[in-house]
Amino acid sequence: MADLQTVSYDQYKNIPSYDDLNQKVKIIFSSKCYENIMKMSISSMNNNRERGRFFVGRQIYSNPEIIYFDYNTSEFEPARGPMGEYKAVKPTTQNYNELNIKIKEYESKGVKPVVLHFHSHPRVGYYESFSDQDLHLYAEMQVKNENCIAIGMLGFPIDETLPTFGMCVVRPENSRLLNGIGTADFVRCEDICYISGNEIYRVGRFEKKYNGRLNAPNLSMGIVRQYLTLPSNSMVCAEGIDPNTGNSIKPTSIGYVDVNRNLNFPNENLILETIGMQEVNTSLFHR
Ligand SMILES: [Zn+2]
Repeated sequence: MADLQTVSYDQYKNIPSYDDLNQKVKIIFSSKCYENIMKMSISSMNNNRERGRFFVGRQIYSNPEIIYFDYNTSEFEPARGPMGEYKAVKPTTQNYNELNIKIKEYESKGVKPVVLHFHSHPRVGYYESFSDQDLHLYAEMQVKNENCIAIGMLGFPIDETLPTFGMCVVRPENSRLLNGIGTADFVRCEDICYISGNEIYRVGRFEKKYNGRLNAPNLSMGIVRQYLTLPSNSMVCAEGIDPNTGNSIKPTSIGYVDVNRNLNFPNENLILETIGMQEVNTSLFHR
């Protein structure tokens, strides 16, 4: 897939967010899952190579849609990428085995699992954007695994000395393969939340003022079918220092975890269960 080793979309300009579409989708990570996202993102800044894992979660509320992740596999292994040997990552057999065990647990409960592919970029090239290969992969994941909901997430450096990093989540909808290339109506989720102690926080944001696109968008290949010609709101979810103001980017408390480990959102008058799933057999996740 040499043709795909490019960055021809800037997700903040070219992919609509759920806000743009007047839909509400919130993603919540358990404290352990979010710690791993932070560790991998910071490690990519410091060690100049990608890191990655699968996360598995489920929809815990439908309107507004709330997806909760409380499981991650072990880490992907280093692989050859456009930046050189061992600079990229790819999932191992062990990663897929772990993922499939978790998927079976969900399916045994009649719950559709949500599988999130996370990887973090080092500060090389146009690292703030998904590559075409990344977006293709997420669409392909959705096509090949109808038993799951597929989501892609990128962690990327903003300032390695502070350290500050950004996060971007995209969901491929109506995915297809065209000449072997995954295409989808991608939607960006800007409502990224996590648990810390007994609090639920929403990740802070800043306004993106740089251009993250390497090449002109390849609209004939059409990986991003829901391509935006007008800019979206360009807000970047991030941890660290706002590059526009030099002030720290503050997360917002949006709720708390009670003694029964339920998630409480007082403003929305919602209390949601997060109890775990048990293990039994069913279908598998296909590469
Ligand atoms: Zn990538």
